[in-house]
Amino acid sequence: MVPKERVDPSLALPRGRTVNVWVLIEAQNELLIRHEGVDDVTEFEVNGITVPGILNTKFQAVQRRQMLRTLYSFKDLHPEELDKLYSLAKKYNVSNAENLKDWKCYLTPGTPSKSKQQEEIMKGGYCTICPNCMIYGYVAGESGTYNVKSRVEGDAYFGLCPSKLCVTRRTFNAVDDVTKTTYMEGGTTGALFQLSLVEPGTLFVGKVALRDMSPAELLLVLHSIAKVDRIGGRVTHFGKVKVHVPAITFDYFEKGSGYEVAKALVGDKKVDLEEAINKVVEMAKGEVKITKRDLADELRNIEEGDLMETVKEAWRDAITFKASIEALIYGGKGR
Ligand SMILES: [Zn+2]
Repeated sequence: MVPKERVDPSLALPRGRTVNVWVLIEAQNELLIRHEGVDDVTEFEVNGITVPGILNTKFQAVQRRQMLRTLYSFKDLHPEELDKLYSLAKKYNVSNAENLKDWKCYLTPGTPSKSKQQEEIMKGGYCTICPNCMIYGYVAGESGTYNVKSRVEGDAYFGLCPSKLCVTRRTFNAVDDVTKTTYMEGGTTGALFQLSLVEPGTLFVGKVALRDMSPAELLLVLHSIAKVDRIGGRVTHFGKVKVHVPAITFDYFEKGSGYEVAKALVGDKKVDLEEAINKVVEMAKGEVKITKRDLADELRNIEEGDLMETVKEAWRDAITFKASIEALIYGGKGR
């Protein structure tokens, strides 16, 4: 791990400390998972077998929302701490310190398309100074001078079941069976429409690599990953999931991938949770390895109040990290 207690330009440089987080996503009801603007379910091929898949961008977007929720709770519970953080940012003379006054940071609802993402950034949805921005990164608008790269890098998530056994195509009536309205996907007006859905119980395996995290950042990201409970399209009706984290490994570089685990598991039958957990525990490698089948449960069960010290530390780390980046870029010359 990389503590971020003091402003230090070298903090802005990658140290190569990697925490590999092994993730199993379990569908708890039907999932609507597809690429932008395409009706069919996202699919990959593993061992010559077509399986459903979840793109990392989808999983990462819900992690970010989860983290923002925690940060807003902190703001509500401890508004005085935001004032202190503002003073700290002013002391370090970091850019956009004023965004800490009445702090807001947001992603637009749904998964934005590339152009919409750009638009959102231009509108300044990201505050560019909070733990969410400094961990998951942001692209500066025209006025910005540097971008921050995400220190959370994910694989795709591979379904552990052949599509022909766990993807069903269902037809909905013009009056949507689910919403009981005449709203239709893509605004079409036909009497019937179809959706491809991933069945409950389907598991997906993937891995997230966390780079150069401070202890507080690590806990905050793990908590956000464990708290993800919805994924995919039309989440008011579909998309309930449970995240399992059977193993975490610490190393100087990224080791292993979800694809390797998927290759070891995907066959002509649906893989069950027990089998998937055991395989991840067996295959996860690193200098230090923590395996615990209920780690995600423990993370989810942390009381919000008990997390606030960690959030405070992560906020300070975010500002120190930002100051360190600016010290590296601008040196003593100021902005
Ligand atoms: Zn932010």
